[in-house]
Amino acid sequence: RARKRFGQNFLEDDNIIRRIVKSISPKAEDNLVEIGPGKGAITEQLLAACPTLNVVELDRDLIPILLSQFIASYPQFQIHQTDALKFDFANLLTDAQGDPKGPLRIVGNLPYNISTPLIFHLLTYQADVKDMHFMLQKEVVDRMAAQPGEKAYGRLGVMVQYYCKVENLFDVPPECFNPRPKVDSAIVRLTPYEQLPHPARDVTLLSRLVNTAFQQRRKTLRNSLKLLMPAAAIESLNIDTSVRPENITLAEYVALSDKLKDLQAQD
Ligand code: SAM
Repeated sequence: RARKRFGQNFLEDDNIIRRIVKSISPKAEDNLVEIGPGKGAITEQLLAACPTLNVVELDRDLIPILLSQFIASYPQFQIHQTDALKFDFANLLTDAQGDPKGPLRIVGNLPYNISTPLIFHLLTYQADVKDMHFMLQKEVVDRMAAQPGEKAYGRLGVMVQYYCKVENLFDVPPECFNPRPKVDSAIVRLTPYEQLPHPARDVTLLSRLVNTAFQQRRKTLRNSLKLLMPAAAIESLNIDTSVRPENITLAEYVALSDKLKDLQAQD
């Protein structure tokens, strides 16, 4: 039986599973990790290509199912029974001898209730991540990929796009799962930039600023940032203070946060 509190919706459609694995294109030499393998729907095909797969699964009742299915054929398969939100992914960057294993490739049909905090947790490892493929609520993928001026554009899009190229790959309908989720899902590929296109001097400050800006999406930028910085400081960057936060690009948010950093240094 699927456990609701663990966000369990198991994939059952072979065509979709094949399509997901094809877009990941796992290789034997990859440092591949799957989050939330469940009963192993995607795991099976990942292991066939990459026998050194690591998985992180919270539900201890699923561990014997995974072991009995895979360990005989794949003795290097490793299961970490823990909460992915608390798991230190740096543990997977070296082998038992302490030698580097290469950048992580992360895969997961994520429990939708933890997907946003989990992605922010994973972004703290972005320098050591080659790419990430996730099944998420379609609405969350739309927010991640949204561009300025679009309704879905907000904090999630700005902060994910700060670190990663975002590709909305394809949709997955509820019929592909058991039990069926109430919402549509989509597969997204996140590829961290080797060099950030718009590095901020203080990314925590950037995150705070973006958060404040979007707290009241319908206000003008001048009003939504009123408590953080004066309109004149915004205008000094050639940014129109009468537009809404959803019209500000990532590059402009970075310029605003660098300016805020200057202002704070003067205090
Ligand atoms: N990958 C499987 C599939 O496609 O059929 C299962 C996907 S199901 C949507 C999400 C999985 O994540 C479940 O197996 C659930 O037990 C596991 N899970 C839930 N919360 C977790 C957490 N905090 N850390 C690790 N795994 C978690």
